[in-house]
Amino acid sequence: MTARRRIILPDVSSSSGEVPVEGENLRYLRDVLRTKTGAVVEVLDGRGNVFEGVVESVGRRSLSVRIEGRVVRETESPLTLYLIQPLLKGEKMDLVVQKTTELGVKGIFPVITANSVVKKTRRLEHWRKVAGEAVRQSGRTVIPLIPGILSLEEVLEGLPSEAIKIVFHRDGKGKLNEIAGTVKGKQLPVYCLTGPEGGLSDDEVRAAVSAGFRPVSLGKRILRAETASLAAVTLIQFLLGDL
Ligand code: SAH
Repeated sequence: MTARRRIILPDVSSSSGEVPVEGENLRYLRDVLRTKTGAVVEVLDGRGNVFEGVVESVGRRSLSVRIEGRVVRETESPLTLYLIQPLLKGEKMDLVVQKTTELGVKGIFPVITANSVVKKTRRLEHWRKVAGEAVRQSGRTVIPLIPGILSLEEVLEGLPSEAIKIVFHRDGKGKLNEIAGTVKGKQLPVYCLTGPEGGLSDDEVRAAVSAGFRPVSLGKRILRAETASLAAVTLIQFLLGDL
């Protein structure tokens, strides 16, 4: 696939006609990619729809794109995979959001756990932006959902009972390929929980197990929290998604 010029405009539709591109998108198209009049641009709504547009004019404050029609981009994983991610320190959280978006998660639930080093943050909008940028560059069409920060307990309570739930824990006895074998083809959503830097507490692992999570190990080595999340998402996409 050749690199395409892609921007996200949540309100775009096939009847948009000429749309103004401003702010961050303008800087990206005009100043970073040096887009000129006549260039073809892909405009995503971030919910799976992609439109092709042509740059009509490039100005100081705005650039104008005429929407020509819808295009089909089948880059989304068929798997509905959500990562439940305890808050990690600054850059690590960004890394997890960026990489797991590239790997195709449909949502990331930032949660507070007992051993979380970070308890509070104002970075929700920042993570949503990181996810949007990862969508744009990876060729995905859906921006992962990143809801507001909740406690792990609150998230566990709110999950549907009809789902595959996996908690990654060093002593986990579950076998990922066996879980995959029993659920393959059922199209259930998958919820994946990993711990923060300080690990999940025994109580939290117990709470997850009583909420239907199966504990699975990622081997005998202790992985850093961010490594665990990336490995977990990769393995689940491999066994149940489209890798
Ligand atoms: N300080 C903690 C380590 C936490 S590692 C301790 O000594 O226990 C952070 C998270 O990564 C863990 O909570 C777990 O979800 C995941 N993780 C790390 N290594 C793992 C492994 N070998 N198997 C499964 N999960 C692992």
